[in-house]
Order: sequence, then structure tokens, then C-alpha cells
Amino acid sequence: MEHFSGSFTQQEPIPEAGVEAAIEVLRNGRLHRYNTAGDEIAQTALLEEEFAAFTGARYCLAVASGGYAMATALRALLVCPDAPVLTNAFTLAPVPGAIASIGARPVFIETTPDLTIDFTHLENMARETGARVLMLSHMRGHLCDMDRLMALCDSLGVRVVEDCAHTMGAAWNGVPSGRHGVIGCYSTQTYKHMNSGEGGLLVTDDAGLAARSVLLSGSYMLYSRHRAAPPPEVFEAMRLDVPNISGRMDNLRAAILRPQIAMLDDRRMRWNALYAVMEAGLDQTNGLRLIPRPAAESYVASSFQFTLPGWKPARVTALLARCAARGVELKWFGAPDPVGFTSRYEHWRYAASPRLPQTDAVLAGLIDMRLPLTFSTEDVALIARIIRAEVLAVGQGEVAPVTALRMGD
Ligand SMILES: *Cc1c(COP(=O)(O)O)cnc(C)c1O
Repeated sequence: MEHFSGSFTQQEPIPEAGVEAAIEVLRNGRLHRYNTAGDEIAQTALLEEEFAAFTGARYCLAVASGGYAMATALRALLVCPDAPVLTNAFTLAPVPGAIASIGARPVFIETTPDLTIDFTHLENMARETGARVLMLSHMRGHLCDMDRLMALCDSLGVRVVEDCAHTMGAAWNGVPSGRHGVIGCYSTQTYKHMNSGEGGLLVTDDAGLAARSVLLSGSYMLYSRHRAAPPPEVFEAMRLDVPNISGRMDNLRAAILRPQIAMLDDRRMRWNALYAVMEAGLDQTNGLRLIPRPAAESYVASSFQFTLPGWKPARVTALLARCAARGVELKWFGAPDPVGFTSRYEHWRYAASPRLPQTDAVLAGLIDMRLPLTFSTEDVALIARIIRAEVLAVGQGEVAPVTALRMGD
């Protein structure tokens, strides 16, 4: 019987150019972004300029984490304590956490079988709660129809902040992810598309929001050292009114990240090649549903999802155990208790929510795995053969009620 022996959590090393730049920062000791010698430009300021250019945004701010970027976006938008903030029910803990961190209230929106936000429920909840902001999480890299979403949110008077933790380098109809909403937030944590251990980036075209974000991140009165930021006049109008909530990025992380921007496109192609092998290997497996990818979506497939529509929990558990015994670590969003990074909305008790039956039905059968770039296409083909064989084996005893779970879209 075939067995897989690779690691689902082993990332690639930091590129040599990043290692060298990091050592240079360590040697000169100027790690703080505002600690520069003479007319030196800080690594952090250069990173912001380069990432702004990469996304086509006018302004960019580098911060301590993706979660911090999201909280900063909400603060910059002047979301008040207790205010409702719409967000995806299918997301990860830092998203409701960012909303809760400013004392606001997450309002979870239903999930379609294609793992994106449900527009009908979104519209209903926007009207019912009067929420003015949507924190849109492009969870696991699945983009909703961004043209329809923006038209809907514009008509509702809802401003969109994009959580692009899984979509750095992705696009909808040619527009980069993070550039549809008023602010885009990215994470550079180890498991994302660029790796600095921890880190985050925020982009926007709005000068007021950019200036407020810079001040919020803890710029003291050194905002003129930012290059991908609005001119000093914009800051002068507000600099005494915005609190300092320190969450800056440092030059060490920025040095590690800068050479990775140019690698994003190559990484996208390699990830998508692995994804295509997995998709082909699992296609036409009875009881297993692949997630369709719309033609307008240009994705970066750093992970892979499929659903087991209608499967009872005991059968899913049996499948996970059998795959694990063959070295294939699958994550399940239907587990009763949170496991590692995998949790779902009712596990976030501080953000009480009514049951969301559509989301519950989707998550009950949702299987997730990472596709690290340390995998070869042969590795992925082997993993697909193991999953396929076990899905068929576990499915043999009884007939899987493969109900078409088409709802809401
Ligand atoms: C990782 C992640 C974030 C941000 O995470 P940080 O660890 O704070 O950088 C936000 N949203 C999602 C969906 C994530 O997976």
C-alpha cells in the first residue's frame, strides 16, 4: 500500500538575497524602521514602496501582522465599539479577532458550496444590522464574484476591507486581490505567500485612510520617512487626533520580504501546477466534490479543499484516520472542537452568532490541506491516489447521499 512521508508544514527556505539583506540589517543594528543613518532609506519604507507597486496601490503600510493590518483598517475607518462588522462565517480566528480587538461585533455571513460569501444573506444582514463595513475574507484563496460584490456593497453603502491572507498575488477579472475594496490587508506569516515569520501589509488609494493607518501603527512624528504614504499636509490635519497603537514592521522582516515580491509570480505558477495535479487526481471520485474555479478568478493555490457532501461525521472521521495512517494529514472544518489552525464560527464564543445552516452544511463535509512548495508534482499525485482510494474505500459500505448542495448563489 502506498504511503506518503513528506511534511505538510515545511516551507521553502528564505531566498539567499533575503538572508544576505537580513544579515546586513543585523550587522548594522538598525532594526527599527525609523533608525536610519544619514540619507539611508529604511528597508521597511522600501518594502512598502515595492509592494505598493506590485499591487498598483497608491499607498502601503507594513505592520506587525495580518491581524494587526485588519484591526488598523477598521480603526482607520472609524468603526466604533459595538458597531456591527459583516464578515465571512467561513474564515479563520484572526478575522473575528481583529473585529473584536476594537470592541466591534462580528456579524457572520453564510457560505456558498463554493466556499465564498453568500450575497443574499450579506444583503439581508447589511439591511438588518445597518453595518457600514464588510471585512471580506478570501478564505483559502477562493474569490467571490468581486464585480457583483462591489456593486452590491456600493448600493448598500457598505465599505469593503479585503482580508487577502490567502490571495496575495491573486486577481479577479485582472484586478489584484486587495484592490477592489477601500483597503486590502495581507499577512506575511510563515504559512502565507511571502514568509517573514510574522508580518502584515495594508494597501489603499485613500490618502486619509493611509495617513491615519500610518499614525495608528505608531509613527511618532516621523511619518515623512514613509515613501508609499500621502504628503505631510494630509498628516498635519490629523496627527494630534490619532492614537499610537504600536504595531510597526521592523527592517529585519522587511529585508527578508523584499526579494520575495519578485518571486510571487513564479510561486503562483508552481502552486497552481501542484493544484492541477491534485484536481486531476481527485476528479470523478464518487462522493467527493471539487470546488469549481470561475474563469474570472486568477488564484494562488497554496492550499486545496474538497467537500464530502452529506457524509456523516463518523465516516469523515474514519476517512481522516485512514489517510493519516498513510501519511496524509487532512484538516476537517466539521470537527466538534477546534484543532490547530482549524476552527469555525461557533468556536468563537465572544462573537455569539445564530446558527448558520448553510455554512454548517458546507463545513460538515469540508476537507482542507496545505500544498507547500516543498512538495513535488509526484508527491501531490501520490497524495491524490491515497485520498481517492480511501474515499472510495470508506464510501463502499453504504451509499453516500451525494446531495447537490447548491444554495444561495
Ligand atoms: C493568517 C490569516 C490572517 C492574518 O494572520 P496573522 O497571523 O495575524 O498574520 C488573516 N486571515 C486569515 C484567513 C488568515 O489565514
